[in-house]
Amino acid sequence: MINKENNGKIDILSLTLHELTELITQMGEKPFRAKQIFQWLHVKRVKNFSQMTNLSAQFRANLDAHFCIKSLFICKRLESVNDNTVKYLYELDDGNHIESVIMEYNHGNTMCVSTQVGCKMGCKFCASTIAGFKRNLAASEILLQIYEAERDSGRHISGVVLMGIGEPLDNYDNVINFLDLLSCPDGANISLRHVSLSTCGLVPKIHELAKLKLGLTLSISLHAADNAERSEIMPVNDKYNIEELLQACHSYFETTGRRISFEYALINGHNDSYHDAKKLSELLDNFICHVNIIPVNKIKERGFKSDRQSAYRFQKYLTDLGVNATVRRTLGADIDAACGQLRREYEV
Ligand code: SAH
Repeated sequence: MINKENNGKIDILSLTLHELTELITQMGEKPFRAKQIFQWLHVKRVKNFSQMTNLSAQFRANLDAHFCIKSLFICKRLESVNDNTVKYLYELDDGNHIESVIMEYNHGNTMCVSTQVGCKMGCKFCASTIAGFKRNLAASEILLQIYEAERDSGRHISGVVLMGIGEPLDNYDNVINFLDLLSCPDGANISLRHVSLSTCGLVPKIHELAKLKLGLTLSISLHAADNAERSEIMPVNDKYNIEELLQACHSYFETTGRRISFEYALINGHNDSYHDAKKLSELLDNFICHVNIIPVNKIKERGFKSDRQSAYRFQKYLTDLGVNATVRRTLGADIDAACGQLRREYEV
């Protein structure tokens, strides 16, 4: 999928190696030139064509006339003193803002990336949706969040979670394009085994994704075991209810063989009782899955709250009921690392 800039130039960082090869050969150049350009862009990560020194000056000028290399500007960097979490507020070419977070785990650094400017999904506990939806991100703009963070921090990113601002399956084509670029052996070369995609449950897109058999981990933001409660906090449930969603998850597992991860943001007094745990265990009875309990992050616009103690209590309910569950580590608590909160301060 080719994204055009306003000035008519093609966003070259969003082109897969296959697409780039096609365009370069149409320009009368040999196919291996495409691979050279791709490596300049995705391995050496140059910011302009003049740095591509193994190409002729004329070819570089020609590239400059037809293509643009997008960029992200680091507006703000917050570093946690607790745990090496780093949060970036980036400004896009059009002045919009997005956020990304580097999280350190034993196995390496994982980056949480945004996929849209804002979000349409309207989840009641989520900061990303409050300022509304502006636009989809191009594949290049998702990728650049990682490239810029690696450049700035000097840290190597080995895993990616699509859990920042936006609903990845609501920007399906660009996200698939991004995954292709991210895993390309001639580019960033990050295995999709180290990638998690989180969705609030856009059922038709889950079916579409399953067919691609990408090997990534699908995370489902479930957050409630009962349709009335889920609809109250997640409007998407009115369109695709829990039964349809779990049916899609079953068929995803059957097609891909990949275990599903369910996210459960615990909100005091809403979804944290033994009764809720019991219902959840019944829903997930015949699933090979994992439940990730997240004490809900406080957002000043909403009254929801939770704490780690309630999360451990809920985890015990679930494990006693035979469900595999963990409580998510809280990272970057001192820098409000939950996505969407920083952007809010920058949007009017
Ligand atoms: N739109 C996608 C991905 C972005 S949100 C989705 O809904 O899955 C990533 C995860 O953070 C989701 O599970 C989301 O429900 C959760 N989340 C959002 N706001 C939160 C908050 N205030 N506290 C805890 N989890 C939150």
